[in-house]
Amino acid sequence: MSWEVTNKKSIKCLCGKGSIVQETIGDDWNRHKDKEPIIECEECSQKYKIDSECICPKPYHDYTNYYCVEKENPSKKITLDL
Ligand SMILES: [Zn+2]
Repeated sequence: MSWEVTNKKSIKCLCGKGSIVQETIGDDWNRHKDKEPIIECEECSQKYKIDSECICPKPYHDYTNYYCVEKENPSKKITLDL
């Protein structure tokens, strides 16, 4: 049983020079999960870190929101449109 990358989403990073990539992995049992996004940009990865928040709007399916948080100003959250 192994996990394989089944989908890869990519959006522009915050400065526009690189990208933010999120992989979805699935296994032989058709289970899927999203991995934490990775900032593929030197500038942004120094300035921001990824934060996540699990939203459980019962009775609906729960999902995870991902943010870029400014390291020097953690109150500044930018929602990632992944
Ligand atoms: Zn960038």
